[in-house]
Amino acid sequence: MQRQMDYMTLREVFRRFHEAEAEPKGELEHVNAYTLVVAVALSAQATDAGVNKATRELFKIADTPEKMLALGEAGLTEHIKTIGLFRQKAKNVIKLSRILVDQYGGEVPNSRAALTSLPGVGRKTANVVLNMWWRYPAQAVDTHIFRVGNRTGIAPGKDVVAVERAIEDNVPADYQLHAHHWLILHGRYICVARKPKCGACIIRDLCPFEEKTL
Ligand code: SF4
Repeated sequence: MQRQMDYMTLREVFRRFHEAEAEPKGELEHVNAYTLVVAVALSAQATDAGVNKATRELFKIADTPEKMLALGEAGLTEHIKTIGLFRQKAKNVIKLSRILVDQYGGEVPNSRAALTSLPGVGRKTANVVLNMWWRYPAQAVDTHIFRVGNRTGIAPGKDVVAVERAIEDNVPADYQLHAHHWLILHGRYICVARKPKCGACIIRDLCPFEEKTL
């Protein structure tokens, strides 16, 4: 784990991320807040591309909790059976749809407590929804952010919650909203796990990682 990067270097890191892509977007396809919740819940231990492939057809027929309940668990299972853990995920999506209809008027709540009370929705999922839909600067730390945060010192921490805190505490406020997307995309495409593509990295000169590749 690196030491926490200093403020001025962090500012320069995020200035460059912003310059390269001012409005970074998540890659999970959705058409409204409800389909975003479902897509994120389905994405645990699965790739965004794999989830998108399944949900493209699903969301054409079930883009609200009411329609999902009408489709039913068996119908939903048919659509998502290419995604890992699909049986449990189908149960959770049906249960959370029922709760949204019964307790939230079919709408998606915008508090972390309400979101994490839904079956299959953990802190990370809730933070993705808060960030992408409600534009609240919540940090959803996944395996990519955890690796990049620790490797570079942008947000070091021994677990995902510590990394989340490090981002919240240290990343300049004007970059908080998009911080998690910049870091996910950086980790997914450049600062990859096995052999980071340091030659193509826009923060190479600022990065203290000792095993930088040429
Ligand atoms: S220089 Fe290499 S290790 Fe450092 S952030 Fe860039 S890709 Fe990652």
